[in-house]
Amino acid sequence: TALNELRNQCAEYSAVFDMMGKISSYTSRREVIGKIKELFLFIFGAQDFKFWSEESEKLPKEIEILKVKKEDFYLFLKEENRFCLKIEWDGIHYGIIDAKGFMFPRYIEKYLNLAIEIAKFSGLVLHNNQQYEIIKASEKELMHLSFHDTMTGLHNRTYINRLLSENVKDCKTIVFMFDIDRLKYVNDHYGHAEGDQLINSFAMILAKSFRETDIVARIGGDEFAAVLYDADAQTAEIIKHRIIEEIKVNNENLEKKFLALSVSIGYAIPQSEKDSIEELMKKADALMYEDKMSKRTKESRI
Ligand code: GH3
Ligand code: MG
Repeated sequence: TALNELRNQCAEYSAVFDMMGKISSYTSRREVIGKIKELFLFIFGAQDFKFWSEESEKLPKEIEILKVKKEDFYLFLKEENRFCLKIEWDGIHYGIIDAKGFMFPRYIEKYLNLAIEIAKFSGLVLHNNQQYEIIKASEKELMHLSFHDTMTGLHNRTYINRLLSENVKDCKTIVFMFDIDRLKYVNDHYGHAEGDQLINSFAMILAKSFRETDIVARIGGDEFAAVLYDADAQTAEIIKHRIIEEIKVNNENLEKKFLALSVSIGYAIPQSEKDSIEELMKKADALMYEDKMSKRTKESRI
């Protein structure tokens, strides 16, 4: 009977269903296409399989028609023992399956019928896959935006705030604080854009003075902080002098002399393993302020 016939077919198709199920469990586009290829090679016994995507080389002339004619979904080239299927979903084109060299050409119509269903399903899987990639990329972008300062590209206050409650553990954590001197003066006399320039130059100096593993952040208008792991007092002193040296070089090469950088610096070293990063930051800030005040006293003596 018809029902028995259907049952029989279902049993025959089980390997196909099994593989189709596998297609949907992959998240990368390459894996999905790899699984579709397996299905055509192993189950239909096609000796030649190609997936023509938007990025691949120019489509062969004979199948270009599939892309041009919207209503055409597949191309059946019986004499060549070959068929091609469009993969699309919701009007979006994902590529063309090109299968040929079937081991049992007498079944090619049956393969084609089933392949049409597989192509539809593959379109849905590739569509979901694309949506997933988009979501992942925007999540990554959001993460970057929320933890970085857009002007300098350094980390931001939010990022540093997440570290504050951490203990220094092995006493090898050092915190630096920086504040640009007299930024308001530059803003007021030369404009905000020139003030921004000052902030960016210093950010660049910081970026090249620390290691990749150190955390460097702009935590306020002209305030910066750095958290170093696996560092000691000697390293801190070396880095401080490196920064002072870089500032000097920066100032010597300036065309606009009023953009000469002057920065107050303070850093703190842990006294006990129980110290938190927040405590180190406060100490470093106090030392930075002392540095600033000492310069003011000198200036007022001049
Ligand atoms: P001090 O020597 O005491 O550090 O004084 P200062 O002029 O640098 O001023 P302070 O550090 O107290 O305050 C920072 C100033 O920086 C306040 C604000 O006018 C300016 N500022 C904050 N954010 C920005 C910014 O994104 N761009 C520019 N151009 N200026 C900023
Ligand atoms: Mg300042």
